[in-house]
Order: sequence, then C-alpha cells, then structure tokens
Amino acid sequence: MENFVVAIDGPAGSGKSTIAKLLSKEFDLTYLDTGAMYRMVALYFLDNNIDFNNIVQIKKVLPLIEIDILDGKFILNGKDVSLEIRTPRVTEKVSFAAKIKEVREKLVDLQRKISFGKNVVLDGRDIGTVVFPDADLKIFLIASPEERARRRVKDYADKGMQEDYNEVLESIKERDYIDSHRDESPLKKAEDAIELDSSSMEIGETLEVLGKYIKEKKGE
Ligand code: C5P
Repeated sequence: MENFVVAIDGPAGSGKSTIAKLLSKEFDLTYLDTGAMYRMVALYFLDNNIDFNNIVQIKKVLPLIEIDILDGKFILNGKDVSLEIRTPRVTEKVSFAAKIKEVREKLVDLQRKISFGKNVVLDGRDIGTVVFPDADLKIFLIASPEERARRRVKDYADKGMQEDYNEVLESIKERDYIDSHRDESPLKKAEDAIELDSSSMEIGETLEVLGKYIKEKKGE
C-alpha cells in the first residue's frame, strides 16, 4: 500500500509521540514529529532575538530557516538541535510561534513534501484537520491535564532534568489554551477522527487499540 497516512492529533503530553513512534516501527511507517518542527522555528526566533509579534521581521527570516530530519535527529541550519528543542525555554514559547500563519504555511508545506508517496504516521495538532484531511486513519488522543503533567515531569526526569509538577501543569494548560483558541488551524478533533482517552491506559493498551484500527484500514 502506498501513501497510507495515519494522523494522530491531541494536546501536549497526551502520548502522541510515544504511540506514533511505536506504531511506525510495528507497521513500517515513516514517523514525522510535527511539533519538533514548530519547536525548531521557536528556537530560531529565540536564538536570533526575533520578536514573536513582529510579522515583518518574521516574514524576512522565515526563508533563512532550514529544517532537516536525518536519522531521527532534528537539524536546524546544519546544527543538531534535538535536545535543545525540548528544553523549557523553547516549550514556553513554541505556541507563540505556532499561531503565526506564515510559520504554519511553511511547515505544513514541508510536512506534505516529506510525506509525499510514503506510508506515514504524523503527530501534531492539525494533521487530521488541515495537513492531511484525507488521512486513512485519524486519531484524537487525549488525557487529563494532570496525567499529562505527570508524564511530562517523568520524561524530564528520565533526561536528567528536574521540573516542578505545578509549573509543568500550568504550562500545559496555557499551551492547550493557546493551541485551541488560535485563529490558524486550532487544535480540534476532526469530525471523522476516533477519540481515545489515554488517561488510565497503559502504552501497551493504547498501542493495541490503535494497531487494530490500522490493520482494519489496511484490510489485514
Ligand atoms: O507536540 P509538541 O508538544 O512538541 O508541540 C509543540 C507545539 O507546537 C504545540 O504546543 C503547538 O503549539 C505546536 N504544534 C502545532 N501544530 C502541530 C504540531 C505542534 O501548532 N501540528
């Protein structure tokens, strides 16, 4: 099967990327973490003192931002920024970069180019609604903000970073709000997406449920 597209959308920390990575291995799909791309743009703005509200300046610098993904590493203008894009400094600002229409146009275009002709699984906020409205399978993965904050604190701890639970919870709620209230491609469930609440589900369970849907869609 050529160009089979699985779209996984949902709020921060709902487990999208973990699930998408595992599905990509199991079903031999190319995985595209679209959130990482928005994070790279936010990092560029931060490192180059670009005002997130100055659209004239932003339009000027957007063509200078070169994004590559090589062997799972995120390369921004030739530099591997895979770790830097996960730091709280970037996480706090990324939603402000993601609300800008011109930023979204550039990244959606790139996401479609990377996926062209491939069997893919993408995770993000607007994959099923905007990037691939005709995706073969659309999943909207949710979990309570508290559970998502717990998972994020654990993720940070696994990487040796100590983060305060309440601060992470507040940051998640703020990002949810900005992502779902923006004018451009807000976070929302596509009408034909399957909603799954992973709050009380183990990864294995979620994987099994989604695996069944994929097999069904592929006619296996
Ligand atoms: O998935 P992740 O938490 O890394 O995404 C970071 C941010 O990028 C989100 O909070 C959102 O503002 C933005 N994003 C988006 N559209 C996507 C993926 C991410 O607006 N498809």
